[in-house]
Amino acid sequence: MDKETGKRGVSILGSTGSIGRQALEVVEAHPDRLRVVALTAHSNYQLLEEQARRFRPLFVGLVDEGAAAELRRRLSGTGMAVSAGAECLLEAAVHPEAEVVLNAVVGSAGLPPTLAALGAGKRLALANKESMVAGGDLVLQALREGGEIVPVDSEHGAVFHCLRGEEMRHVESIVLTASGGPFRGRRREDLASVTVREALSHPTWSMGRKITVDSATLMNKGLEVIEAHFLFGLPYSRIKVVVHPQSVIHSLVEFVDGSFAAQLSLPDMRLPISLALSYPERWGPPFTRTVLAELEKLTFEEVDRETFACLDLAYRAGEAGGTAPAVLNAANEVAVAAFLRGRLPFLGIEEVIAATLEEHRPRPVRTLQDVQEVEEWARARAEEAVETQAGNPAEPGRS
Ligand code: NAD
Ligand code: MG
Repeated sequence: MDKETGKRGVSILGSTGSIGRQALEVVEAHPDRLRVVALTAHSNYQLLEEQARRFRPLFVGLVDEGAAAELRRRLSGTGMAVSAGAECLLEAAVHPEAEVVLNAVVGSAGLPPTLAALGAGKRLALANKESMVAGGDLVLQALREGGEIVPVDSEHGAVFHCLRGEEMRHVESIVLTASGGPFRGRRREDLASVTVREALSHPTWSMGRKITVDSATLMNKGLEVIEAHFLFGLPYSRIKVVVHPQSVIHSLVEFVDGSFAAQLSLPDMRLPISLALSYPERWGPPFTRTVLAELEKLTFEEVDRETFACLDLAYRAGEAGGTAPAVLNAANEVAVAAFLRGRLPFLGIEEVIAATLEEHRPRPVRTLQDVQEVEEWARARAEEAVETQAGNPAEPGRS
């Protein structure tokens, strides 16, 4: 909290993305409570310039050096410092004026700033689930020394808030809800020919491209199972997934007495973002008001785990532990990028991940370098698997 203004300083990593832009809407709704200290993004200098002029942060950074040079030119004379390269994420994460660091970067590029923010004793509002998946053991190690995490992922935010005031020994299981994505109800053979466009039309959430594809394969839920394991410390056997197509119940906690606690509201990511920035307070008014009598029915169904094999791949990597989740995540990042480029069919995503995991013998993770080395191996291996598949499209008549 800034002593003079009484405002909480926030650094936003990934401010030009879907979560980053919605976080700025939250800041805009609470100008008397929040102020932006730092903004970073990968390469979108146009949008970052707009955001910087509007929110007047102390620090701005772009990972892409060329884009940073352009932004520096455009912001010259404003007094705002522009930093370039991946280190800008670290600078923003440890900025002395930042009380809360929102990590809304996509992919495991978010791991170094996650560790840096915790190392500096910050409250980390964590949207970047990939950092928890790739480096969960390191994140826990950092948390033992200082800092705290308030989850932004809607499911984990829901669980976190359902657990407030509860003792973990009273918890039987965590139940993560999944919308089921655009292909819910389809069979495996229907998925062979789905297009990028179809995979990108999510029924209930509007999000960045990578997480939208992850939602279509259900790898998003798989990553979230691993994220939940590290955040809440339950074994995988007590982290469950249920399909809930309306995305109104954001997740549940089941207690040993058989009762459940749930958080519900119409889907709007500004709620979990706002909860993470306001914690331990709650701020109104709501961005989206939920009128119970207007809700249609709320339904639940089992996941079709044969059609959506990515979920079990994630459970297996999570159970294997050590470097396995980092390999799962890196292979998924490569496979999703290849799918989005039109280089890999939809079902190729799980095949690339399975092939990469198959060849990996998990080792313990002790340092960031352990993670980065295994990711480098996994990316190269996954790229090979993509090329093999691209060279041999699984069409009848060609083998
Ligand atoms: P997005 O693609 O819309 O935005 C990503 C942001 O990260 C952009 O600002 C981009 O410039 C920046 N970025 C990309 N690559 C980077 C790199 N290598 N280094 C530094 N910055 C980089 O993604 P999103 O949908 O906002 O998702 C962000 C994170 O939040 C992801 O981990 C995602 O899983 C998680 N999340 C998103 C939602 C959602 O509704 N969008 C919900 C829950 C969790
Ligand atoms: Mg989620």
